[in-house]
Amino acid sequence: MNKLIIAIDGFAATGKSTQAKRLAKALDYTYVDTGAMYRAVTFFALEQEPKGSVDLKLLCRSLDQIKIHFEGSAGKQQTFLNGVNVSQAIRDPKINEYVSKVAAQEAVRSFLSKQQKALGADKGIVMDGRDIGTVVFPLAECKFFLTATPEVRAKRRHQEQLQAGLQESYDEVLSSVKDRDNQDTNRAFAPLIKAEDAVEIDVSDLTINEVFELLYAQVQKRIN
Ligand code: C5P
Repeated sequence: MNKLIIAIDGFAATGKSTQAKRLAKALDYTYVDTGAMYRAVTFFALEQEPKGSVDLKLLCRSLDQIKIHFEGSAGKQQTFLNGVNVSQAIRDPKINEYVSKVAAQEAVRSFLSKQQKALGADKGIVMDGRDIGTVVFPLAECKFFLTATPEVRAKRRHQEQLQAGLQESYDEVLSSVKDRDNQDTNRAFAPLIKAEDAVEIDVSDLTINEVFELLYAQVQKRIN
């Protein structure tokens, strides 16, 4: 069967990874969470700097010390940094605070986008992020751009965090989500922007299943 590259971009906490995992499972495709890669680099940078912040220049000089790989299938994919499972650690609010600064570095973006391109070389891949349809796979056969109001997204992310035992308030989550959107949209290299040929979906008033049905119908159209 005709294998595609499916790119899902959009704002923080729009459910991109939930949808990407479901699509990958339904199609038996590989799933790649590129946000997890930027988060893993941020985790490395925080470990590098004993004062609990990041030294971006030092990080950019040390990228050759970073090895990221994924294990497991779409539903239970785990992220490894230099052989250590960091899947939970990279979801910490401290990572949210720094990840967009790290992701704005041109050296970091070129380091990761090269790896992302290699992961999609054989197609049959669903990749979610911010620049997949614009920079990593501008020729992807199927592109989506997910949006929702900041309040809807913060509410969802806050609930997920409560379930994971994290203590941030709704207001803190809302401010972190808005701050990341702002930094991701306004950076000089590979900013968050809808690819011209992406299908835009506002998920604010849709259930997870409704969004999935919309995405799946579009994918089927491209496959046939
Ligand atoms: O998708 P997630 O929210 O986990 O991404 C974390 C951060 O990584 C984003 O806010 C953004 O700064 C960065 N990112 C990026 N490009 C991607 C994926 C993520 O800049 N393709």
